[in-house]
Amino acid sequence: MLFKEVVGNQETKKTLLQQAEGGRVSHAQLFLGPEGSGKLAMAIAYSQYLLCDAPTATDACDQCPNCLKMKSLTHPDLHFSFPVVANKTSKIGSSIDRIKEWNALILKSTYFGLNQWQEELDEMGKNAAIAVEESKLILKRLSLKSYSGKYKIMIIWLPEKMNTQAANKLLKILEEPPEQTVFFLICNNSEGILPTILSRTQIVRFPALSVSEVSNFLANRFHIETAVAESAATLSQGNLNEAIQILQGAKSQNLFFDLFVKMMRAAYTANPIELMDISDEAASLDKENQKNFVKYGLHLFRESIILNYMKGELLNLSNDERKFLEKFARFINNQNITELLSEFNDAHYHLERNANSKILFSDLLIKLTKLIKKGI
Ligand SMILES: [Zn+2]
Repeated sequence: MLFKEVVGNQETKKTLLQQAEGGRVSHAQLFLGPEGSGKLAMAIAYSQYLLCDAPTATDACDQCPNCLKMKSLTHPDLHFSFPVVANKTSKIGSSIDRIKEWNALILKSTYFGLNQWQEELDEMGKNAAIAVEESKLILKRLSLKSYSGKYKIMIIWLPEKMNTQAANKLLKILEEPPEQTVFFLICNNSEGILPTILSRTQIVRFPALSVSEVSNFLANRFHIETAVAESAATLSQGNLNEAIQILQGAKSQNLFFDLFVKMMRAAYTANPIELMDISDEAASLDKENQKNFVKYGLHLFRESIILNYMKGELLNLSNDERKFLEKFARFINNQNITELLSEFNDAHYHLERNANSKILFSDLLIKLTKLIKKGI
């Protein structure tokens, strides 16, 4: 992974490069920021830079033996530690037992969150953690001599998933680090980290990516219409992991769009069988896409209001969406918009907390049948 492949975060790249150039690489750095801001990608790119034999002022060479090993994730000085779901029967206890799946996921994309990681393993909703055995393993792996003669790098993904025992053990390692090691702690939420660990690390803050950074990346990577890329970027609020999921998981906006149109029609005609079918269809999406669909609904309601009252240029709509909204927008007005937004926001809130999605969507549809006729 090269710096130039990391989306956005130009200032952070500069700071890290300056550190490396001045030989002031802090031995424990906490990359802190919202999910999907590119912290893991940056840590891997920085690791490659630090291990590269011929780095330029701005990036690794991408050709030397160390770079080649980094690219295939086979560099002996690169170590990962991450949450796993412990399972005695299949002998899963630490990240070493899952390293194959982990590497395979990273080679596909460095932009993923805990949900996607667990989805990859078919372990959605199960408790993934970094247990104390992991900390012992970290120490063991770092006690080996550096292969390249440079740094030994340990990337700990989601240290907030460490239990207290594991965290205390890690603290000891950070207090007396093995020689020539660099730790990158990739953290979404510093509240889950022991203050003593925080005080031992240099914090590097990652802001959420901008909508345009995300949409440019999506448009180039997936060769899609700019409007679709912008729409996914807006929906994801700068969370690149989620934006990719929106595009891939739901076969882009089309699936959400079709479902939304059907949902609004069913709500308008209030045909009970149709209502039931639609709520089943929404409930059959996977958890992430149920949430994304609800967000998508919020997005189209807001765009409808913009179309009705502001007559502004709608930037975040595909052609199909625009055509639909030109007719549909009149149903969304100042008599129902507040309630619609609050019902959809509530639905999102409850889905995050694992509500029963069948009940939730059928409830939502019944409310929609009343709301959709207000004010027309
Ligand atoms: Zn190189």
